[in-house]
Amino acid sequence: MKEISVAPCVRLGLASILLASTEAEDKMRRAVVWAVVLFATKMSAAMTAAESGADLAVAVRIHDYVAIPPGTLVRAQFLVSEYYRTIQVETKWRAIMRPSEQSGEAHKALGGEVQDLTVIIVNQSMARQMRLPANAVGSAASAPGASGRIAYIMYDRVVAAALGAGWETVDLMSVVIAHEIGHLLLPWGSHTSAGLMRKHWRMGDLRRVDRRTLTFSDDHAEHIRRVLRIVP
Ligand SMILES: [Zn+2]
Repeated sequence: MKEISVAPCVRLGLASILLASTEAEDKMRRAVVWAVVLFATKMSAAMTAAESGADLAVAVRIHDYVAIPPGTLVRAQFLVSEYYRTIQVETKWRAIMRPSEQSGEAHKALGGEVQDLTVIIVNQSMARQMRLPANAVGSAASAPGASGRIAYIMYDRVVAAALGAGWETVDLMSVVIAHEIGHLLLPWGSHTSAGLMRKHWRMGDLRRVDRRTLTFSDDHAEHIRRVLRIVP
């Protein structure tokens, strides 16, 4: 089974979650390859501590440029929160931004903190215009020594991959979002051979895995907690 190389992503200054190619282009994609992202952004204020001071929290705002049904996004947020809850991190979801439905004033009124992480859900044409890596289903902006604050989810490709793997779209989307947020909290290039930060996925692997078993590694979980503790 052939896989898409991550080299083009690196050349573009981006790395991402990638869909591996199929043996024949007209057949369903059979693998997902996850990689990282380069893109210089500031590491520091991407996270916030919970008001309680007892727990750790990360604040995230989704910008939905695809007009996904609200119930789907709410479900995805719930599932992502579950992944982070298992490592004792609260996920604070800011109000979802739907640019196609909001006036400029409404946009401004939503407010939010500059420390928030941003997850932008884009369609296929936007992904092309933004020159996001071909076949990528997700991409986070970061660089060696400087984690970023923005991640992209390529919704059409998530749908295609979910179909190929027999997953519910929202389930795969939650994994991709959790994975990309992980990149914004972990050192550049952080991947594991299994779990949420797994780099390479084939469709057969996805078909066999229960998404509820996916977790961060102990090392990654501790790093995420450490970063959230030290960032004001
Ligand atoms: Zn990755």
